[in-house]
Amino acid sequence: MKLSEYLEILHLARISIEEYNNWGEDEIYKTTIADVLSNESSFIKSTYQLSYTENINPREELNNIKQKVSRCKKCSLGKTRLNAVFGSGTVNANLMFVGEGPGYDEDHKGEPFIGRAGQLLTKIISAMNYKRETVYISNIVKCHPMIDPDNPEKRSNDRCPSLEEMKTCIPYLDMQLEIIKPKIIVTLGACSTKGLLNNEEPISKIRGKLKEYKGIKLIPTFHPAALLRNPNLKKAVWEDMKKVIRYLETGEI
Ligand code: SF4
Repeated sequence: MKLSEYLEILHLARISIEEYNNWGEDEIYKTTIADVLSNESSFIKSTYQLSYTENINPREELNNIKQKVSRCKKCSLGKTRLNAVFGSGTVNANLMFVGEGPGYDEDHKGEPFIGRAGQLLTKIISAMNYKRETVYISNIVKCHPMIDPDNPEKRSNDRCPSLEEMKTCIPYLDMQLEIIKPKIIVTLGACSTKGLLNNEEPISKIRGKLKEYKGIKLIPTFHPAALLRNPNLKKAVWEDMKKVIRYLETGEI
């Protein structure tokens, strides 16, 4: 098949997907979007990969996915969120931080890591000689996992997303990674580390070790919220971040 024919099919498929999206909770929406976005679906991935080779603007591609996420109801978190929290930063980031999911502040504002833990993450990024705008920050799940989902106005209502919720949402993160192509990922905390590495090792044991996710180097570290509870962990996080800096500067750890 010629490339132009393939592109035409992809174009028609995209239009169909958009139409299904507009049908909201309809059964067709549920099955089709779930299938298309599932981990196993090579179709949508090939769409995006092809987009790059055809020089379609990555910013635009990222924005298209953001629009899809803002309408997504693939898991129950989508029913109770106030705002989907897609991610922030530059599409050209070499460094990407991945947390577990939005909390109260993020759910209310639609931005990742803006509460107290987020402010500490901003300080860590500055200490690494980067800025929030020069890295990319996202989460494994894009909607707020709540202990009491009937009460989004309640503080301290956050929980780790379930494995099922993470599995359902990870295709969006995979698409972000395919577009941004960071050189290294830093997972923040046990949940996101477990979600990406499928590893049961405690975060205290696995942190600082060089891993890989889909061919991208990955270093797990403590979540900044853990540092707020226990400032003694800051030293370990800084050790981990020094490895990240070294890798970004020299390609070696
Ligand atoms: S958490 Fe992810 S999969 Fe679930 S509704 Fe939100 S965007 Fe969709």
